[in-house]
This record gives sequence, structure tokens and C-alpha cells, in this order.
Amino acid sequence: AKFTGKRCLAVFDDAMHASVLKRLQMEASLRSAVKHDELRLEYQPIFDVQTSHIVGLESLVRWQQPSTGLTQPMDFIPLAEETGLIVPIGGWVLEEACRAIGELNAARPGSQDISISVNVSKRQIAEPDFVEQLGATLARHDVHQRQLNLEITESLIMDSPEGIVDRLHEIRKLGVRLYMDDFGTGHSSLSCLHRFPIDVLKIDRSFVSTMETNDDYESIIHAIITLAHNLNTTVIAEGIETAQQLSRLRELECDLGQGYLFSQPKPLAEVLAIVRQHEQQ
Ligand code: C2E
Ligand code: CA
Ligand code: CA
Ligand code: CA
Repeated sequence: AKFTGKRCLAVFDDAMHASVLKRLQMEASLRSAVKHDELRLEYQPIFDVQTSHIVGLESLVRWQQPSTGLTQPMDFIPLAEETGLIVPIGGWVLEEACRAIGELNAARPGSQDISISVNVSKRQIAEPDFVEQLGATLARHDVHQRQLNLEITESLIMDSPEGIVDRLHEIRKLGVRLYMDDFGTGHSSLSCLHRFPIDVLKIDRSFVSTMETNDDYESIIHAIITLAHNLNTTVIAEGIETAQQLSRLRELECDLGQGYLFSQPKPLAEVLAIVRQHEQQ
């Protein structure tokens, strides 16, 4: 019995060792990802559910390592947040998104009606010079504040001390719009919404994907849309995958949508082609 116990312990140790090692290696690679130019952004169109016009693009980061291949954000953003690497990574994302806005405008001279939304983490927003850097990045790329939106999660707002709300007001004073991401997954109640400076609310994909099979979810979506509209807040439904979901959301007077039905996230050049194609129709 003693022998087995020891053996088990040894195996457990090895597994622990391996996972710690893997994490450390990943952290080391992630640390140099920006420097080695391994990050890139894809963009997913945000469209008007009534007219199907493209009104915006959401930027989504990807990590392409020469050795390991493509890593999705779910597999490295949490580590980046824990280690603080999200600060330089997020800085790169903002820079790249602003550069993309310039490219978007150059491709469609005379119209600056499409905005780009960038996901930002709590750690990033909490940096003392975040607002200053944001303003500087916009200026450097000659981007109008109205063309940039920041997506923050519900939990970022709910779990944060008062200071974060002041920060959100500062960001909004710059003229950048704030989107509340993944709405419905956190702990906030609908009645708290008016306390935060939020322009757009994104209904989490889990609600949209369940609405066809569960009427309760459709009722929740309906309630969110009604309340948001009473607060003059725009609503985006995430993760629309079927024509049926889209037509139901249209009936519920949802404003905007995103999802594989319309388009998957794509490199900028491909998304620009979709934008142009839509404008010719
Ligand atoms: P998110 O902000 O909620 O982004 C939406 C995710 O849903 C994206 O996954 C997108 O590709 C996926 N998606 C869009 N439409 C559909 C659909 O119709 N069906 C399904 N099944 N999925 C859909 P992605 O790109 O893997 O990103 C995952 C998460 O990683 C994002 O969730 C966001 O929280 C985070 N993330 C991505 N880019 C950044 C970034 O630049 N900074 C930070 N801080 N987080 C990021
Ligand atoms: Ca998002
Ligand atoms: Ca989301
Ligand atoms: Ca999500």
C-alpha cells in the first residue's frame, strides 16, 4: 500500500510539474508575442438586424506562433490577464485597431460611419495612464473618437471598486463609446444598468443560442431589449447562427446583431470586401 501511495504521488507530481512548466513556457512565449509580431486581429461585422447594413466591426485577437500554430483568445487571454501581459497586448490591439480604422476610411472615402469595437480587460483600463494612452493612440492615427468603441464585460463593472466607474466616465468624455459585453452572464440586474455610462449592451450568445428551444430565454431577451430601449441604450445580439434567430430578433426589435449567419471573424482585407459588396447592393 505504501508503494502504491508513493507511486501515485510521483505521478501527480509529474503532472503538476508538466502543467506548471507548460504555463511558464506559454507565458515566456506570450511575453515576446508582440515583439515577434505574432498577434493579429480579425474583424466580425456588426449589422443592423432590420436593414442588414454593416454599422461596425468587432476586433478579435489571434496569436499565430511559428511553432505551435494558431492559439485562440480563450487559450491565452486569461493567462495574459493574470500575468499583466494584457497591458502591452491590449496596447497593441488598440494601436492595430486604430490603424485599421484609417485603412477602412481610406477604402471608403467620404464615409466614416463604420466603427470598430475593441475588447478591453479590467487590468488594462485600471492602468493609471489608460485614458491618456487612448487619446494619444487616437490622435496618432488621426481617428475620430466616434469611430472607436470599447467593449467591457459586465463583471468588470460589477466586481470593481468605485474607481472604475469614474474611469468609464473619463473614457466616455473622450468621445469613445462603451459597450457592455456578454450581458446576462454576470451578476448585474437589469435595474443596475442605468447607474453605468453604457451606450450599447451586447446580449450574450448563450441567450441567443437557447432562444429557439426555450421560451424563457426569449422572454429574457425581450425584457433586456425593452429595458435597454427605455434607457436609450442600443442592443446587439451576439452569436446569431440561424435565420430563425435573426427573424425572431427582428420581431423583438433588437437593433444590431453579430454572428456566423452573417459572417465569421475575418482578416481586415476580407471584411473590407464584404463591406464594399454590401454598399454596392
Ligand atoms: P467575445 O468578446 O464575447 O467575442 C465573441 C466571440 O464569439 C468570439 O470568439 C467570436 O469569434 C465568437 N462568435 C462570433 N459569432 C459567433 C457565432 O455565431 N457562433 C459562435 N459559436 N461563436 C461566435 P473569439 O474570437 O474566440 O474570442 C473569445 C473571447 O476572447 C472574446 O469573447 C473576448 O472576451 C476575448 N478577446 C478576444 N479578443 C480580445 C482582445 O483583443 N482583448 C481582450 N481583452 N479580450 C479579447
Ligand atoms: Ca466582445
Ligand atoms: Ca461577447
Ligand atoms: Ca463571450
